Amino acid sequence: MKNRPRQFPMTSKETVVELISAEKIQQRVGKLGKLISSDFASTERLIVICVLKGAFMFTADLVRSIEVPCHIEFIQASSYGNGIQSSGKVCITGTIDVTGHDILVVEDIIDTGLTISRISHEFLNCNPASLKICTLLEKPAARKHPVTIDYLGFTVPNRFIVGYGIDYAGKYRQLPFLGILE
Ligand code: 5GP
Repeated sequence: MKNRPRQFPMTSKETVVELISAEKIQQRVGKLGKLISSDFASTERLIVICVLKGAFMFTADLVRSIEVPCHIEFIQASSYGNGIQSSGKVCITGTIDVTGHDILVVEDIIDTGLTISRISHEFLNCNPASLKICTLLEKPAARKHPVTIDYLGFTVPNRFIVGYGIDYAGKYRQLPFLGILE
């Protein structure tokens, strides 16, 4: 018999239902790190770019599994504000000189694909040697903008996810697991 997912009542109105455990996340992140290390074994020009804020925890774990030299940089992108619906506008802040470098953009979730398309477009204008995309989660059912994902953690249903760095109105980032907000 299948176990019922664990439920964590957080406030009188909000419950987080566990979707992916902390152990499963760590296993998958370790595998992604190995794969990335092998793919980038011949470069010394790798820049890992963390898309804040949602990807901070994922990036921190991922880079500890990457065994090739790399620089770590940060940009901030936001489209959700304090709600659970994308605003449809993406605001990107941060400047990184990527010209001639192999860049690996690390995202938390690819949903419609708008944010990562905008980020990729901005970086490709600066002539990197290569650009690859790594995302912890993707929601294929929501895709509106075509995106090639090079490294994927998990495919998730089209629900509102929190935990492991990913928030709702600034809350729940500290959870070590991923869950659905109900
Ligand atoms: P997209 O531009 O692909 O539609 O949305 C990507 C961004 O929206 C993600 O980087 C993330 O910040 C936010 N997002 C998408 N789905 C979710 C979700 O289920 N939960 C949270 N907290 N943010 C999400």
